[in-house]
Amino acid sequence: HQPLIIAKDLKKHFPIRSGLLNRKTATVHAVDGISFEVQKGETLGIVGESGCGKSTTARLLIGLIELDDGSIIYDGDALGTDIKLKELRRGVQMVFQDSYASLNPRLTIVDSIAFGPKIHGHADPSGVARGLMGRVGLDPERFAERYPHELSGGQRQRVNIARALALSPRLVILDEAVSALDKSVEAQVLNLLNDLKEELGLTYVFISHDLNVVRYISDRVLVMYLGEVVEVGPADAIYAKQAHPYTASLFAAMPSMDPDNRTEEPPLAGDPPNPIDPPTGCRFHTRCRFAEDICSKTKPKLSVIGGSERHLAACHLQDTTSGHSQALKEVAE
Ligand code: SF4
Ligand code: MG
Repeated sequence: HQPLIIAKDLKKHFPIRSGLLNRKTATVHAVDGISFEVQKGETLGIVGESGCGKSTTARLLIGLIELDDGSIIYDGDALGTDIKLKELRRGVQMVFQDSYASLNPRLTIVDSIAFGPKIHGHADPSGVARGLMGRVGLDPERFAERYPHELSGGQRQRVNIARALALSPRLVILDEAVSALDKSVEAQVLNLLNDLKEELGLTYVFISHDLNVVRYISDRVLVMYLGEVVEVGPADAIYAKQAHPYTASLFAAMPSMDPDNRTEEPPLAGDPPNPIDPPTGCRFHTRCRFAEDICSKTKPKLSVIGGSERHLAACHLQDTTSGHSQALKEVAE
């Protein structure tokens, strides 16, 4: 397997105004030195509470916002400079949660989908658009001349998917793309995404707060906490046995998690700390019930656990042989 994306030490800090009369400037550590790879043809799920940096990571990958530090290698070519950005914008497309806001209300469905190909000088943009409509399950005869407000949320999201595919991307980033849909529609759109991925050889980065949905669609899962990666590995391995105490707490709140595979963890209490002033050492130490002295002093490194090179977690107490946090193991015994 060759990686499509190699992200190294990505950093994005946002200055914000705060304090009395907004006179002070503070820095939000939105993404704070994360590294990961996206393999060709896989679906990488990214999970974590809101504000953990999932969406910022997505926007960095697609070049919507600039990196403060770090590098992104896209299919062997270094980005970070603007030379490759144009190519990246074509090769990487994104689908957002709000199906309505993403569409121009004055454009018919066929014109919306044809827009990208038209800009890029395609000979028959409408033909491309109609073909894609069929592919995403929207009969062009019925829907081509309609406007976004005449469609349901699920139909609009199909339009957004068709629009994302119109420039033949290799990577599609789906940021809460099914989160606003009813459960039955959500299942249909997830199946559509899986079919399209097979047919077109796509790679997905799938961002969601819904762990059941992520489990359904992902080959690998990356868990973020306060701008950092705390665990990454094959979806099967992580859903069967979470290595990091944060992942365990997050998953404990999952409604339909198989009770046999469930860690005996109380669900997370409270909100994550302020990303303006993240905790020292392990950022999870203020909420971790296993925290020890070292945890607030030294930042744990992502290290291989459970003998699988592909499963990594960042916790001082993790047992590198059992693939289970030492702390969690003791609790289980
Ligand atoms: Fe908890 Fe310490 Fe592990 Fe962080 S490093 S998750 S605080 S045990
Ligand atoms: Mg988000």
